[in-house]
Order: sequence, then structure tokens, then C-alpha cells
Amino acid sequence: MIEEAARLIARSRFLIAFTGAGISAESGIPTFRGKNGLWENYRIEEVATPQAFSRNPELVWDFYRMRMRKMMEAKPNRAHFALAELERMGLLKAVITQNIDDLHREAGNTVVELHGNIYRVKCSSCSYRENLKESGRLEEFIEEKALPRCPECGALLRPDVVWFGEPLPESEWRRAVSLAKKADVCLVIGTSAQVFPAAYIPMIVKDEGGRLVEVNPENTGITHLADVVLRGSAGDVMERLLEKVKSCLAEKC
Ligand code: NAD
Ligand code: ZN
Repeated sequence: MIEEAARLIARSRFLIAFTGAGISAESGIPTFRGKNGLWENYRIEEVATPQAFSRNPELVWDFYRMRMRKMMEAKPNRAHFALAELERMGLLKAVITQNIDDLHREAGNTVVELHGNIYRVKCSSCSYRENLKESGRLEEFIEEKALPRCPECGALLRPDVVWFGEPLPESEWRRAVSLAKKADVCLVIGTSAQVFPAAYIPMIVKDEGGRLVEVNPENTGITHLADVVLRGSAGDVMERLLEKVKSCLAEKC
């Protein structure tokens, strides 16, 4: 199976990757569902919806400050680095991710973030936005106890992430769909493919005649559509797959 996947990738004309929480599991960031999943200790409707934020912004900000702290400590793992290398080799064109942890960018990939970014905040009222990593205010922001307020209008700041029931950012979605339509191969890594509309991305690739290579220890919502299924953890599988792609290119497989 891994040889078959390597051949598809080595011969691809426009390879993309679609990733979810599982690719960051090895970096120590809990996934969404499953054992030790992040949501087991929190009720989604209490922390990740616009209604939750209007009802109890303190609780929502406690949760997101905790996630910022955890994600700040995390480093990209072997799977993120394998994708970065595939891009440097000229094979991979972009990573479309549902993750908000910034690890694909840190590893060096071109990224389309469908669900926002943990290090960005935006005003709940005006158009103010800030990237706390870039403004150098991240640590001070996390330690602050008070609710964060917009420096322009004084309204509450909120995380610039997509909550349940909210639409995806339009320009990111358009970019993702256009990449999916061009792709002849898509690596689908560490996603249960159950959160829509994001999970339409691999389906669009398939509809347009592209091939899917799935990397996941378990069955998912798109396993039945996958052309090649590689069972295992993302770090391990991606490291082996990258080696196979290289030897495939060297030996003209
Ligand atoms: P999910 O939790 O629904 O699914 C995780 C998938 O990863 C599962 O299919 C699981 O089998 C697989 N997995 C677990 N360990 C793995 C490993 N070591 N290697 C490869 N695969 C592994 O996650 P999802 O599909 O991304 O959807 C969840 C939503 O939650 C997304 O919208 C995302 O924005 C958000 N989320 C993001 C992060 C993050 O940024 N790191 C973390 C948790 C949740
Ligand atoms: Zn404002």
C-alpha cells in the first residue's frame, strides 16, 4: 500500500494535503473526538459557540487561554516536517487544515486555515484584528485575567476561530475549493472527516477525478472514498512515505 501511495505522489502533478487534529496528536495536542479528546472535559456548547460567548465570555476565554498556552508549547512533529519537505521538493502545493495550532506554518508549509488560528483575535463588534504572535503580545495576553477588549472600540475581543454554527472564512474556503479542484492527488491526514463543510474538500478532489491517500489509525468518514489507505500514526506513516517517494523518484518508479 505504501508503495502504491508513493507512486501516486511521485507522479502527481498537483498534490495537496487536507489535515485534522490527528496530525498534531504526536505534538501533544489532544484531538477532538476519541480517547483523551479535548472535548471530554468541556461541553462544546459551553465553550465553542457564539451563544456560549455571549452567555459566558469568561469561561470561553479561560478555555482559549488554556489552549493558547498548550499550543504555544507544542512543536511540529515528523508528519508536519514530511509535508514541509514534500513542498520544498516541489510536489506538495498547499496544506488545507482544520487545525488552529499554527504548526503547519511553523514547519514551513503554505497553509489554508479553514477554522482560523489560535494566535489571532478579532473584535466582536468592529473590524479590528490582531495576530498576537506577530505583535509580540502573546504571553502577556495569556497571563492577563481580565476579559480582553478592543483597543479601537472597547468591545470584547474574541478568538479568531470558527465556532460551531458559524460560517467558514469566505476567502479561505474559496482558496481551498480551488486547490481541491486542481488537485490530482490529496493526502488526507488525521481527520475524522465528520466536520462539514471542511470535509467536503476531499470529496471535491474525488468528484473532480483526483485520488485520495488516507493516513489515519482508524476508519473515517472518507475511508470508503480513499484510493489508498495507510493505517498508522501520522508521524510514523509520513516519515516512511516520504522515504518511499524519494526512492521512487530516484528509481523512476
Ligand atoms: P477529530 O478529533 O474529529 O478526528 C481526529 C482524527 O485523528 C481521528 O480520525 C483519529 O483516528 C485520528 N488520529 C488520532 N491520532 C492520530 C495520529 N497519531 N495520527 C494520525 N491520525 C490520528 O479531528 P478533526 O477531524 O480535525 O475535526 C475536529 C475539529 O476540531 C476541527 O474542526 C479542528 O478545528 C478542531 N481541533 C483542532 C485541533 C488543533 O488545532 N490541533 C485540536 C483539536 C480539535
Ligand atoms: Zn472593536
